Amino acid sequence: MSSKPTVPLLTRMRRHLQWSIKQLTGSYADGQLSPRRVTEQALEDALLWKTLNAFVRLTTEQALKQAQDSEKRYQQGQPKGELDGVTIAIKDNFCTKDVHTSCASRMLQDFVPPYDATVCSRLKQAGAVILGKTNMDQFAMGAGTVDSLYGPTKNIWSEDLDQDHWRIAGGSSGGSASAVAAGLCYAAIGSDTGGSTRNPASYCGVVGLKPTYGLVSRHGLIPLVNSMDVPGIFGRSVSDCVTVLNAVAGPDQLDSTTIRQPFTRLKLPEIGQIDLSTVRIGIPKEYHCHGLSAEVLETWSKVADLLECSGASVRQVSLPNTAASIFVYSILNQCEVASNMARYDGIEYGHRASDERSTEQLYALSRAEGFNEVVKTRILTGNFLLLRKNYDHYFEKALRVRRLIAEDFVKVFESSDKEEGVDILLTPTTLTEAPLYKDFASLTNRDQCAVQDFCTQPANMAGIPAVSIPIRLSRAGLPLSLQLMSNSLNEQLLLTVARWIEDQVGFDSLEHSQEHKASS
Ligand code: GLN
Repeated sequence: MSSKPTVPLLTRMRRHLQWSIKQLTGSYADGQLSPRRVTEQALEDALLWKTLNAFVRLTTEQALKQAQDSEKRYQQGQPKGELDGVTIAIKDNFCTKDVHTSCASRMLQDFVPPYDATVCSRLKQAGAVILGKTNMDQFAMGAGTVDSLYGPTKNIWSEDLDQDHWRIAGGSSGGSASAVAAGLCYAAIGSDTGGSTRNPASYCGVVGLKPTYGLVSRHGLIPLVNSMDVPGIFGRSVSDCVTVLNAVAGPDQLDSTTIRQPFTRLKLPEIGQIDLSTVRIGIPKEYHCHGLSAEVLETWSKVADLLECSGASVRQVSLPNTAASIFVYSILNQCEVASNMARYDGIEYGHRASDERSTEQLYALSRAEGFNEVVKTRILTGNFLLLRKNYDHYFEKALRVRRLIAEDFVKVFESSDKEEGVDILLTPTTLTEAPLYKDFASLTNRDQCAVQDFCTQPANMAGIPAVSIPIRLSRAGLPLSLQLMSNSLNEQLLLTVARWIEDQVGFDSLEHSQEHKASS
């Protein structure tokens, strides 16, 4: 028997939740709906859906003020743009001015940044209403949102949300995915270092976009692996993700790794105008790997067939270094973590232990109390790998293999051979549907990530864009998703093909509440 909360499900009767961002802002413009009403409802719904544990903090007052300002702009006929009055949630590793930013860790539990991450300031400039901060694995280290100071996030598609039978939302940006999937906001920001946006998007049945490295500023995103971190975007459709991307992308003086050339806003063609006959799709054989469920495999091959039948040229390709990716990532991640986490000493930064017998002890205790086991293990391992005697053997070597992994992608995307080259790669996002929490939590963090990150993490090595889109439901009624990847800065084609597939498969990201829609 399902124990999904019944009162909150009534909120699904809010018809506007079925709308795209464009439709929503259109209804603001013609006075049919008001940003204030939508924001009030979203805040109410977030409380009613507390059981999901998607939000770690609601910024109620700020959100209502932003909604009120937005409403005035619409009344004056001067909205700021495509996101004016649109409710958005932010992962708790993005700095938000005057709002706690904890990374779901005791270490930053009391941290209130005096500035906004660039992503947040651009969203505010675009008139968005920031509803609050979302749950995550501590410091974004994980793939399930099960290692948070605030407890795990649940997947709204679970057969049973109360008993032992609930499913993970995926991670580490599980709170953002869960909030979008529950209809608590129109879009959400996550981060993606090895898959943390695409993995939870896949499990929660929403779209998750990881842009090209450097397209969106990392300023104010608390770092995990600087050379791979990118802000990610969750939405209920590809077009909604594009709308958010257009607002946040582009060079930023505060992040020297952003791509210098000005960003050209994406504009996706209408469905009827999408021509697949010039698109070459690659199916990398290495992604047909151990642990891939029969249902995901079937979904993958059906979508490949669909593309082929619709005129695309579909061929198998090889990315021979794929399997090395997990090991290389693990080394590079832990090395960068070891140095990134050094700043949290309890003196300048982070949780401070109360026992101050000596400076050394203060450092040691603050870090012992502030970090969880996952973070501590990665710091210790990273420092070991960076020892002078180990450096060449691990760090240097991993950097070299990283280059090979990136070159695999360059070879398929930039091949001058018409027969060999492809424009888009199609793969699973995750190997299975969302696991049960009890099964997932019985594994170590390392084992969880080794499985969860297999398909997503090579794109971070190469810095290329990738998107996860939901395709259909499994026999157990859980979302199954696929991933598309393209060459760097080819988001226009990537998202055009994603939109085409989305239209063909007709997945309804709020289907978990079908019975209530029927009664509305
Ligand atoms: N699962 C990976 C890790 O724990 C990736 C996390 C992420 O993308 N933030 O490192």
